[in-house]
Amino acid sequence: MRVIIFPDAEAVADFAADELATTVARNSSCVLGLATGGTPVGAYRRLIEKRRESGLSFASVVTFNLDEYLGLPPSHPASYRTFMNENLFRHLDIDLSRTHIPRGDCEEIEMECEAFESKIRAAGGIDLQLLGIGTDGHIGFNEPGSSLASRTRVKTLTSQTRRDNARFFESSDDVPRSAITMGVQTILESRGILVLATGAGKADAVSAMIEGPISSDCPASALQMHARTTVAIDEAAAMKLRRADYYRQAELERRRLRKSY
Ligand code: PGA
Repeated sequence: MRVIIFPDAEAVADFAADELATTVARNSSCVLGLATGGTPVGAYRRLIEKRRESGLSFASVVTFNLDEYLGLPPSHPASYRTFMNENLFRHLDIDLSRTHIPRGDCEEIEMECEAFESKIRAAGGIDLQLLGIGTDGHIGFNEPGSSLASRTRVKTLTSQTRRDNARFFESSDDVPRSAITMGVQTILESRGILVLATGAGKADAVSAMIEGPISSDCPASALQMHARTTVAIDEAAAMKLRRADYYRQAELERRRLRKSY
């Protein structure tokens, strides 16, 4: 894993926006895996600014989101479809028909999950998957105990996740109890992965992801098995890392080597 520790959340957002923009600049019809939640909002804001400044086009980009709450129609104010439209898509020249998010209100859940996997395959797989991490170590909604070989399916949300996400709903009782989520294996098949985490509340989960054993206790730890995972975190989220100094040295060395070639 490449671990980059930034001074603050703004620097994490800048880095993530740069990575997304570079992926699009290299291949205008790339496939991006996107995430919702509080963490990626800053990165999306920076990406929108970049598009305004540079004119970078998203017209041919294809996107897949990690998850959606089961039971919520796309038009629900707290659905992840609404979140993505409001926080990113409507500010870009993206073709909404190329943006894919599981339908929380589908009638045939299994068919919806299989169709989602097929669409990812048909698009040629995901070039860069953006991820947040839950305070319980989840990626997507793969809660602790998730099979590390799992594919898109329904997962029951933990009470911790429902508490963490209550801020997006009018009352905590309104938070759905389950969600459709890409599986851990689906995520691992992406060609590149970028995990973002900011704030002290994520420090335990970040340390388990990077330095803990690979275990379904912390589904994010499965990312240790992916050869192209970058973790971009701020100082607060890095607080519990035993090898923080080593990661900083490795980044300096990386920069030095790049300069000398
Ligand atoms: P957050 O959620 O960005 O709102 O902290 C991250 C996650 O649950 O994956």
